[in-house]
Amino acid sequence: MPQNKEKRTKDKPLDITEETRECPICGKMLKRPYWKHLQKKHPKEYHENRTTWIQLYKDYTAMGMSMDMSLTVISELFNASVKEIKSLLKKEKIL
Ligand SMILES: [Zn+2]
Repeated sequence: MPQNKEKRTKDKPLDITEETRECPICGKMLKRPYWKHLQKKHPKEYHENRTTWIQLYKDYTAMGMSMDMSLTVISELFNASVKEIKSLLKKEKIL
């Protein structure tokens, strides 16, 4: 994991309201809309997004992020709906 300038504590693991978000692939701090960076810089991951969603969901929940938060972050990164991600994770028996 690349370093974040703000220190994360146990009380405040990840803030969903942050305007910038770390790219899960290269670690760059991104501004909204996050998915534009992925589409441009990581087209492979962007287009094969279904496998990436699963990996990211596992990573985020392992970091202590709640299910809802993880889904929201993934939806913003890939320009997908939470519903779409949820149904995939259900299909893969992750949820
Ligand atoms: Zn990136």
